[in-house]
Amino acid sequence: MSVRQFQAPYAGADEVIAGRLLTAARRPEEAERRIDARARRLVEAIRSHSGGLGGIEDFLHAYSLSTKEGLALMVLAEALLRVPDAMTADALIEDKLAAGDWSHADRSGTFLVSASAWTLGITARVIQPGETPENIVESIVKRLGLPTVRIATRQAMRLLGSHFVLGQTIEEALSRAGSHREFRYSFDMLGEGARTADDAARYFDAYAKAIAAIGAKAGNAPLPARPGISVKLSALHPRYEAVSHERVLKELTPRVLELARQAKSFDLNFTVDAEEADRLELSLDIIGKVLADPSLAGWEGFGLAVQAYQKRAPAVISWLTELASAFDRRLMVRLVKGAYWDTEVKRAQERGLADYPVFTRKPMTDLSYMACMKQLLAARPRLYPQFATHNALTVASVIEEAGGGEGYEFQRLHGMGEVLYDALLADVPGAACRVYAPVGSHRELLAYLVRRLLENGANSSFVAVAADPKVPVEAILKRPQAWIGDAAHARHPQIPLPRDLYRPSRQNSAGVEFGDRAALEALATGVKRSMPKDVQAAPLIDGKVQKGTSRPVLSPVDDTSVGTVVEADVATATAAMMAAQAGFAAWTATPVEQRAMALERAADLLEASQGRLIALLSREGGKTLDDSVSEVREAVDYCRYYAAEARSLFRPEVMPGPTGESNELHHRGRGVFVCISPWNFPLAIFLGQVTAALAAGNAVVAKPAEQTPLIAFEAVKLLHQAGVPTTALHLVTGDGKAGGALTADARVAGVAFTGSTEVGRIINRTLAAKDGPIVPLIAETGGINAMIVDATALPEQVTDDVVSSAFRSAGQRCSALRLLCVQEDVADRMVEMIAGAAKELSLGDPGDPSTHVGPVIDAESETRLDKWIADKANRIRFRWDKDRPLPPRGLFVPPTIIALDRARDLQEEVFGPVLHVVRWRAAEIEKLLDEIAGNGTGLTLGVHSRIDTTVEKIVARLGNGNVYVNRNIIGAVVGTQPFGGNGLSGTGPKAGGPSYLRRFATEQVVTINTAAAGGNATLLSEDV
Ligand SMILES: Cc1cc2nc3c(=O)[nH]c(=O)nc-3n(C[C@H](O)[C@H](O)[C@H](O)COP(=O)(O)OP(=O)(O)OC[C@H]3O[C@@H](n4cnc5c(N)ncnc54)[C@H](O)[C@@H]3O)c2cc1C
Repeated sequence: MSVRQFQAPYAGADEVIAGRLLTAARRPEEAERRIDARARRLVEAIRSHSGGLGGIEDFLHAYSLSTKEGLALMVLAEALLRVPDAMTADALIEDKLAAGDWSHADRSGTFLVSASAWTLGITARVIQPGETPENIVESIVKRLGLPTVRIATRQAMRLLGSHFVLGQTIEEALSRAGSHREFRYSFDMLGEGARTADDAARYFDAYAKAIAAIGAKAGNAPLPARPGISVKLSALHPRYEAVSHERVLKELTPRVLELARQAKSFDLNFTVDAEEADRLELSLDIIGKVLADPSLAGWEGFGLAVQAYQKRAPAVISWLTELASAFDRRLMVRLVKGAYWDTEVKRAQERGLADYPVFTRKPMTDLSYMACMKQLLAARPRLYPQFATHNALTVASVIEEAGGGEGYEFQRLHGMGEVLYDALLADVPGAACRVYAPVGSHRELLAYLVRRLLENGANSSFVAVAADPKVPVEAILKRPQAWIGDAAHARHPQIPLPRDLYRPSRQNSAGVEFGDRAALEALATGVKRSMPKDVQAAPLIDGKVQKGTSRPVLSPVDDTSVGTVVEADVATATAAMMAAQAGFAAWTATPVEQRAMALERAADLLEASQGRLIALLSREGGKTLDDSVSEVREAVDYCRYYAAEARSLFRPEVMPGPTGESNELHHRGRGVFVCISPWNFPLAIFLGQVTAALAAGNAVVAKPAEQTPLIAFEAVKLLHQAGVPTTALHLVTGDGKAGGALTADARVAGVAFTGSTEVGRIINRTLAAKDGPIVPLIAETGGINAMIVDATALPEQVTDDVVSSAFRSAGQRCSALRLLCVQEDVADRMVEMIAGAAKELSLGDPGDPSTHVGPVIDAESETRLDKWIADKANRIRFRWDKDRPLPPRGLFVPPTIIALDRARDLQEEVFGPVLHVVRWRAAEIEKLLDEIAGNGTGLTLGVHSRIDTTVEKIVARLGNGNVYVNRNIIGAVVGTQPFGGNGLSGTGPKAGGPSYLRRFATEQVVTINTAAAGGNATLLSEDV
């Protein structure tokens, strides 16, 4: 039997949803009174429990995330246990302890409780109330010595971790669970999502082994009173992502099915955890397929988690109800509020989505939880509701709506909510509670631990306010509908919509969520519909197409023709310069507001033509769908950013001075700017240069790279359509000869260039050789970009960031990672994981959404890269095509990892999917930094470390233009990460930054003696 595909708007309007939720939230006064009474009893039980919430909660409250100690503690807890070497561990401890004031005199009561709970021997014994933060580390170390501090701190972190973990092995966990018969259990095998096939296989085995062990001890009670297992789909596949939909469905479904069958054989509760919103549709597709398998018929233990903070939660529950009826089966549904809220908000902002998939006010999540709870209760017995919460008000509301404790269960996390549920089970006969019990070694618990610390420490969380005696019980019992009031207040006033992120100065560019099937399909259809056929490009002078010799433009994807281009000769280039010179006067005299508005119209037109532009980027430039969307967005952002910058720069600035005189600083266009751009960002860099020059009132002659003239032609036509006069913007398609003619022309008032250092130097010399005014050259050249990783970094995070920085766009970004420098203590594991993840990349037609890496730009590039790889044959650590062939057509170079002995062994930029790796010793970081600095470039730099002082040291030593800490090093955002380097990497100022436009303008100060007519009227008329 086939299942209807789940469908729901990805991010509905909060106001509309709030209207519905507020109406549904109404209850009789009687019921509210009963909820109040029960919730109050529960909160009071929590507060009166001896030792407050228990040692750890008190501790977490004392050092909550709103304090710097809390943050320091969180980072320490997240990283310390995975650091293998003493030197780095000590540096981390010192760094974090120095970050906080651990000696709050006014907290001494809680402090002692917490200190003993944390068993941070060092805190209990050494830090006394009254000590100053400055001398803390020194005094601890002096009294105990660093090795003791290290051991004590590690021990403390283990204890903190073990509070939230039931056992390091499933056997240990089962035995601990056995002593709490009043609870049901669901075991969870800890770990980060799989990055490699080996990871996925390891997690699969761990789940299978755990199911067998749980099954063996499951006892005789029938479902739902049987134990279970919770499974994360991201652990079972290395590319669990929407764009790899087909592959994931094919490979992951049988794995999940196999585990589910095994769980069925013991009649266990098998629950699929809920993860990020962009994976929801994918997870439901898999679940639908698994459930449809006849081998699961009759089993009532299959379940999944639904997140109430997601706007689609009610639609998911409706879909599940349908599914359960269709298969004539009961499903178990765990209702949670959701654990990734901050990640969701950030992702939606980064991707420029129209709206958030989650609510932005906490009471909206609570209201949604209430509505989903009613929906689940009403869907019984098809669905078996499992309410996972630590919130006493939520618990009391569930009992009220359910009319008692039967027909559903509560769930809590191990290490949390103990007092609440002890009190509840005593209060409500028949109530059932299941404990979600993480199992795993200390190293594996870190990410989970951080999520729990965040949950316990966040101001918005129930656990945090329940632990805070300063918050009155009445405030805790205030209903979510009372917090919201009316639908107009459904959104958080301080969390702007992604498109309003840069208001008031400009609108953010619109992006696409690939996890939203409808959006991805619309995009793919738009691109397919506008797939270019025989595009014609030619030089454009005063808007007129120029004649000349034409040549075909071939796609790097399959070597077929995309169109033709007429190449400009020297005469055409000169004619363009003359036309631009003639057009300059009118454009520079155009009020800045009009110039800015033309650019803003261009931004709108770019967004409206997204499909065609992406199609061209993919065919002509070999760009993947993801890269193409980002590139169109960047182009849009440039247009709006420079429009906004021009408005403020070209406003006369009044300078201070003596009375009787006015002084105003003005900016003006310089004249004719020549803009020479590269093929790797044929739309974004092309338009970035051109729009900056135009915004500053210059006439422009633009010369795109010879590999990508078609998209440049489209872009120029689009600017003309937006209102940039044809006399102000001219296009010269052609090769280096045409570029040489442009830069050598006497009319050049400035050059913006992005490309190789070598060509940058030639342009510099050409300009210098000319008589006449000395004109500016704004050059962006390449870099040997490095990333430094120490032992505190999280391998999975490093893997994601290295793979995207080195291999995305086939490594053809100026910012791409060329040299990875890993601390030797963790290098083997790190590089193995990176290679394993790179192996999972899919190479192929960039027009296919599932492709991660497209071709390189031309045959010359391909040959150069192949030769580089061949020359280093004995140093290759990974080659994508070792076990399988490259795509049969197109210019594909395999992602490759090459080991070098030292950082200084890489002295040239290898512009492709080739990553070089070196190892460094913890004691020799200075030497590493000197070697990196020695290559003379200074573009992007990455650092992965949890030690702030290490980050500071690296940033101080290496002056790279763009430094990225604990993230990837590509994808600079206009106006947020102004982009550009120094040294051999370019002249600055940075593109998309506040200094850029100034370089395109001249300055003029106008001083007027306002007293020239014989007296100072303004001064004389001042009031007495
Ligand atoms: C047994 C169990 C299993 C779980 N399994 C999963 C799972 O599979 N997937 C998953 O994602 N989570 C899971 N969780 C985690 C769960 O989402 C959190 O523990 C839960 O959100 C805390 O809810 P609460 O009612 O205890 O706390 P409360 O403090 O009442 O609520 C906290 C919730 O509010 C949300 N919130 C905070 N600020 C805002 C805001 N400004 N706007 C909107 N919402 C906001 C938080 O993200 C969080 O979801 C599970 C929890 C339990 C107990």
